Amino acid sequence: MHQFTPRGVYELDKRTGERASHAIGHVFMMTGASPNTELLERCVALDARGFIKTGADLTAEELAAARWPLSRPPHLYETSLPGVFAAGDVRANSVKRVASAVGEGSICIQLVHKVLAE
Ligand SMILES: Cc1cc2nc3c(=O)[nH]c(=O)nc-3n(C[C@H](O)[C@H](O)[C@H](O)COP(=O)(O)OP(=O)(O)OC[C@H]3O[C@@H](n4cnc5c(N)ncnc54)[C@H](O)[C@@H]3O)c2cc1C
Repeated sequence: MHQFTPRGVYELDKRTGERASHAIGHVFMMTGASPNTELLERCVALDARGFIKTGADLTAEELAAARWPLSRPPHLYETSLPGVFAAGDVRANSVKRVASAVGEGSICIQLVHKVLAE
């Protein structure tokens, strides 16, 4: 938690209770990186923080637990559910930038066509 004062930034680490203050004039804040994936918990494999695992990030154990039914491994950005893809911030290990989210989405469209042709 950060509190901004005219003299700088007051910081409280909620996990450790550690307090600190910094004489900082300008701050770039990036908040909100908490994936809303509870509804997917029993559908696709998620990492420990709830981001959706895809492609080569899926381990053999995760694919076995998900009962991956195909002889091929998941495509790039394909989840543990065949034909279901994830793109952008919600995807585990994604770059968390607008351009990459858009790019991943466009790649997914190509891969959806590939899956439909299988
Ligand atoms: C403070 C901040 C600053 C940033 N600055 C930059 C920057 O300068 N440059 C840059 O490239 N990137 C920046 N980013 C990152 C960038 O915003 C993200 O990488 C990008 O928006 C990811 O796009 P996305 O479509 O994957 O996810 P999002 O843009 O988060 O879109 C996901 C959408 O899904 C909706 N949603 C969530 N759950 C559900 C549900 N259950 N049902 C239906 N809809 C749902 C959400 O409401 C949201 O509209 C910044 C991010 C933050 C938080």
